[in-house]
Amino acid sequence: MSRRMQMSKFLLGQISAKLWCRNLLHQPVRSMGSKSALFPAIANAADYPQQAVLEELKMPFSRAMIGNFFQERPKLGNQFLEDAMLQSYLKRHLPPVVLEEVSQDLDRFSQRLVEEIDALGRECELNPPKLQQYDAWGRRVDDIVTCSAWKRMKNISAEEGLIAEAYERKYSSWSRLIQVVKLYLYFPSSGFFNCPLAMTDGAAKVIESLGTPTPLQNAFRHLTSRNPNHFWTSGQWMTERRGGSDVEGTETVARLQEDGTHTLHGYKWFTSATDSDMTLTLGRTIDEHGNTVQGTRGLSLFYLELRDAEGKLNGIEVQRLKDKLGTRQVPTAELLLDGAKSLMISPEGRGVASISNMLTITRIHNTIGAAGSMRRVINLGREYAAKRFAFGKLLQDHPLHIQTIARMEVEARGAFLLLMETARLLGLEETNLATEQDQHLLRLLTPVAKLYTGKQALAVVSEGLESFGGQGYMEDTGLPALLRDAQVLTIWEGTTNILSLDVLRSVIKSQGQVLTAFFSATEDKLQAALEVPDLSKSANITLQALQQLKEFTKNAGLKGGSYMELSARDFSYSLAKIYIGSLLLEHAAWPGASDTDKYCAQRWSQQELCPVYKAEASGSYNSEAQVLDKQLVYERSPLTKGKL
Ligand SMILES: Cc1cc2nc3c(=O)[nH]c(=O)nc-3n(C[C@H](O)[C@H](O)[C@H](O)COP(=O)(O)OP(=O)(O)OC[C@H]3O[C@@H](n4cnc5c(N)ncnc54)[C@H](O)[C@@H]3O)c2cc1C
Repeated sequence: MSRRMQMSKFLLGQISAKLWCRNLLHQPVRSMGSKSALFPAIANAADYPQQAVLEELKMPFSRAMIGNFFQERPKLGNQFLEDAMLQSYLKRHLPPVVLEEVSQDLDRFSQRLVEEIDALGRECELNPPKLQQYDAWGRRVDDIVTCSAWKRMKNISAEEGLIAEAYERKYSSWSRLIQVVKLYLYFPSSGFFNCPLAMTDGAAKVIESLGTPTPLQNAFRHLTSRNPNHFWTSGQWMTERRGGSDVEGTETVARLQEDGTHTLHGYKWFTSATDSDMTLTLGRTIDEHGNTVQGTRGLSLFYLELRDAEGKLNGIEVQRLKDKLGTRQVPTAELLLDGAKSLMISPEGRGVASISNMLTITRIHNTIGAAGSMRRVINLGREYAAKRFAFGKLLQDHPLHIQTIARMEVEARGAFLLLMETARLLGLEETNLATEQDQHLLRLLTPVAKLYTGKQALAVVSEGLESFGGQGYMEDTGLPALLRDAQVLTIWEGTTNILSLDVLRSVIKSQGQVLTAFFSATEDKLQAALEVPDLSKSANITLQALQQLKEFTKNAGLKGGSYMELSARDFSYSLAKIYIGSLLLEHAAWPGASDTDKYCAQRWSQQELCPVYKAEASGSYNSEAQVLDKQLVYERSPLTKGKL
């Protein structure tokens, strides 16, 4: 078939679309200039049978070529009003007066997200920060140039009290939970401004837990301000080239000055939000003979402001901005500290212990990001399913497609409840209302929630992108950024393995008390569900999994450190799955729960809830398994040269 004939067939096909013809006939005809210029392929149309039809329709050529069908895009709705689990959770937990007030604010904020903030977030993604190292006259300036939308995010964060809410404690212990809900709604639209907010929140928490000493009162006021002109953000500089997971290798040294301050000398390998106003960082004090104390015992915590009153950097050189897979909106840099003036704010040698409060907060922020990303991709995916046709019907009418999204929904609801639980416990602790059991649970659940939800977010967001078909892969839909950004949730603030080891540490340090708290809280949560006919089977399955976990803990405790270490990841997953199961069942047993709440809890309990028990039975943690794992990984690797 000649090219002209092919064109003719294509155009006929287009014309036969009745709807399209009708629309076109009612459209005003634009001035089209010379026909041959617009229709080069059929300029010589005497022998071209469709030309008369085209003439009659006055069809603009470009429209004919690209076709008439355009898929309607998924629209972002009011994320507060559309979130069934969030609504029912708040209704179940908040006192009615607080619920009323807070709901109004969250509704308003969510509308602002749709009308203003979401577009700013996209702008941040499209205009990543740049480093301008020198000015026109060759002077080193190290300016980090961020877009106006990024700056606007800082103002919005202050206006909305995204940090202040938690520290004003207007609603007592509920203030923390309400702040977390607001951040959860904000996260996917924030252009990753949530990253500096996480560290800002962490810094405020550290300062508050140190009793807000006089030299830090000003900083605390800035960090928790609702006034955009006063609001500060903070960094958290822990990672050096030798390690982020293992801060023992920290090389930065701190020299005591006559005025009692210290100057810092070192190289920070990852510093996000380098445009922040202040930071907390670790350094090793050095005496006049150049001696330092090695190990984490030699590390202290330091406070410094990044720029002086004239805007000059405080003994800091920005070496370069990192070229990252995602979180491109965030200026993550490598910094040389070359005499940065700082204040030691922990007792000497207690740096790691003192910064742990910051890690609790940033890990909860990570969980916020995980739950928020899952929610966003699902809500957009279900919107799309109601607009996209395939095989003669909407995607929402293909049960297999909806089953796929429903599985994501179960995961997202579980993650949300685990997030709320840690926020609730944190709120209680911050207002001195936490029992001993609450405190142990918070210690245990913070790393569990971070590691589990970070991993699940990546899986759910990836599945979510697939639910858009090819469009999920297209950069200009904004969807791929969700996936790129989700990858970081498993890495920063502690990787999955490092946090699993932290879970073990919490068990050992508390001499098992965190586990006793876990077992008892889980059993309590399951009580009501055991009495509900639709839920009792699932509650019993969860209790059985809890029993398996208890058995594993008893056995593994006798087998020594390396056995426990090898099981750490599966152990943490088991804690997460069992606890989420109990949270879903507790929620479903609430008299105000819906049928979908019950269905969701039942679905959760149908998975393997105690993977550590099964893996132990198959010998996964034995010393032989350790050897075989290594052989499997390094088989034929030139590194081993046949020796393992
Ligand atoms: C975008 C981005 C921004 C960042 N921003 C900051 C920031 O602002 N401030 C900051 O301080 N840091 C920041 N980081 C650094 C981040 O926190 C670290 O990269 C992270 O904690 C991992 O540390 P590492 O890179 O040293 O990895 P490594 O410690 O080298 O780990 C490599 C791998 O080995 C595994 N592993 C290590 N030790 C063990 C073990 N004992 N048992 C089992 N497995 C183990 C880890 O799980 C990991 O998979 C940022 C990182 C990224 C990607």
